[in-house]
Amino acid sequence: MKPDSTRVIADLKEFKALTSDERGAQRVAWGPVWRTAREWFQKKLQAELGLTTTRDPAGNLWATLPGKSKKSIVIGSHLDSVPGGGWLDGCLGVIAGLEVLRRAKAAGTPPLTLHLVDWADEEGARFGRSLQGSAASAGSLDAQKELAHLVDRDGAKLPDALAENGITLDGMKGAKPYFDALEAVAYLELHIEQGPVLESMKKPAGVVLGSMGVERHNLRFVGQAAHSGAAPIHLRKDAFLAAAQFALACREISVKYSGSTPRTRVVATCGVVKVEPNFVTAVPGSTEISIDLRALDGKVLSKMLAEAKKASARAAKKFKVEVSWSPLIHITPRLFDPTLMKFVRESVKEVTGSAVELPSGPLHDASEMAGVLPTAMLFAQSSPGISHTKLEDTPIPALDKSIRAFLLTVDRAMSSLSPTGERVGVRG
Ligand SMILES: [Zn+2]
Repeated sequence: MKPDSTRVIADLKEFKALTSDERGAQRVAWGPVWRTAREWFQKKLQAELGLTTTRDPAGNLWATLPGKSKKSIVIGSHLDSVPGGGWLDGCLGVIAGLEVLRRAKAAGTPPLTLHLVDWADEEGARFGRSLQGSAASAGSLDAQKELAHLVDRDGAKLPDALAENGITLDGMKGAKPYFDALEAVAYLELHIEQGPVLESMKKPAGVVLGSMGVERHNLRFVGQAAHSGAAPIHLRKDAFLAAAQFALACREISVKYSGSTPRTRVVATCGVVKVEPNFVTAVPGSTEISIDLRALDGKVLSKMLAEAKKASARAAKKFKVEVSWSPLIHITPRLFDPTLMKFVRESVKEVTGSAVELPSGPLHDASEMAGVLPTAMLFAQSSPGISHTKLEDTPIPALDKSIRAFLLTVDRAMSSLSPTGERVGVRG
């Protein structure tokens, strides 16, 4: 069966109409619109494939198409969104997964079992912990330690939001044994790029190399608050100026370590600055600034962090202030599986004529999966190259090609990983 994106694109439009308003997608995890989104998905599976879903103890939603072997390929992404999100982030991968199951079923019994998963709370939009469901399945989540204390902006507690959905923190431990019992041999995910790289290269789809490692820290520069009129420049201890110099130095560090290939691209971002006392007539006595460093190469990331630390000390010295660091997040780079990446590359090339590679700056559920089994991802172009806004989009021709390339990737993985070399669909 020739891969075809028609039903996927129609489903995506239907799903958008159901779960978005004038501000964008509203499928925030654990809330009512998200539950509606999942009900829609469950009804589709039931009506078109006769499949019922099961929910694991972390709230991930699974549909299974049994194959000749119990060994399985897992296809997944997330139906949840940020508030006011786009129409493709996450749901593209799940809804394309639905098409994978339709094709496989139409072609008979697949050689390997196919599991389609909608990961719970990928975005962490309400409580701040992203990749919650996939991390639970990968065994990298300590629910009591990481989730018990989390509250949303209105003061609602995450454990209560979970309880509304029938999930307990202690019960979440069961997601890992549930996952292990699936005997998965590969994980494949289609996702939008969410950035401008493919658009700038005029490529509809790309092969993802892996997700970048992250070093995220909060710095506090402390000097002395003073009156803006009374304190002469040479006697000031201006904490903001030190932070500003640090931010510029971080940009220099990212330029220095960025190579010319997608594999060697690195980024550094100072996204939050809090100045105190924060009046127009006060020299800033203290300033907090965040730094988020990302690279695909762990060694490069360590060097960037070491240089950022030196830069902060230099800035502190120059402006006669003190600086202290507190770590927020450390994530090791997750490189994808070379064999599965080859299937993605061949498929993207078959459909689009060429196959560019790029790293993922954002983390995805695939980043968690890459820690426990061979994993690969295919990116669809984002145009404009932005996400987490209702402006997020992928032009239909690029969407079509990405979906078809993903379906071919699954075919290739299926035929190569099945003991008999059988295919999921007849490729034509
Ligand atoms: Zn996403």
